[in-house]
Amino acid sequence: MDLGIKGKRAIVCASSKGLGRGVAEKLAEAGVDLTLNARTEATLRATANEIADKYGVKVQIVAEDVTTETGRNALLKAEPQPDILVNNAGGPPAGNWSEWGEEEWLKAINNNMLTPILLMNAILPGMIERRWGRVLNITSGSVKSPISSLGLSNAARNGLTGFVAGTSRQVAKHGVIINNILPGSHDTDRTKGFLERTAQAKGISIEAARAEAYAENPAGRYGTAEEFGAAAAFLCSQYSGFIVGQNLLLDGGAYNSTQG
Ligand code: NAP
Repeated sequence: MDLGIKGKRAIVCASSKGLGRGVAEKLAEAGVDLTLNARTEATLRATANEIADKYGVKVQIVAEDVTTETGRNALLKAEPQPDILVNNAGGPPAGNWSEWGEEEWLKAINNNMLTPILLMNAILPGMIERRWGRVLNITSGSVKSPISSLGLSNAARNGLTGFVAGTSRQVAKHGVIINNILPGSHDTDRTKGFLERTAQAKGISIEAARAEAYAENPAGRYGTAEEFGAAAAFLCSQYSGFIVGQNLLLDGGAYNSTQG
């Protein structure tokens, strides 16, 4: 399917690996030129080269921490007029509600709520003027169904979700579409680390921990970055113009609900 976005330009935050890379690959496959971002320059450069070689699109990199003002300014300087913005960053650490003080809360709010909001604030006026834009925020299934140990994520990401709910409805008439995409468990480095810790805590092999985790999901597995990227690319496509302020959950059916 031609997504109708060949020649458009996208910023994809936190995209040298995992879900961000999955989105970058599928946008590149659709013919979108990319500005990729991550903190580690070597990995980012390798990803950018692989994507440029494979899909023949232009790819530039900004090796910065997107959760800092310096990082965001560098991204905006490299690509001041993106047609597509994909917001992403690492998630807050796990823990317990009783351990988190002001410092931890401010960091989570900055990284997973304020950072995407500030990037939207910077980029939306240009999209409105050009009468076309797509913004997709990678949040988490924890927005719909809380993960107790990820209270910082549950809360900060719901703040972003609230902002998107109202703002998406203000900008849609200008051809600017904002949605959120909610990953459940996907096979990435992040979940690999989680499975390693679970295996160690239970005294079992990583393969056994993986088999247990897969068995808990109705699909019998975790999702892939490729599947995630394809759904995300559709939400950034020409055909997503009537999908406004939605929260698309990709979790293999793990969230048990009759509707939505
Ligand atoms: P991942 O495999 O660990 O990849 C994270 C990517 O983001 C890397 O390219 C990393 O590169 C980059 N990154 C991290 N922090 C950054 C920062 N501050 N500035 C710029 N780049 C940054 O993680 P993932 O599994 O794709 O997860 C992506 C997001 O989805 C996270 O917020 C995660 O909490 C959320 N999520 C994931 C899952 C899942 O199952 N995978 C489920 C729910 C929610 P550098 O380290 O070099 O910066």
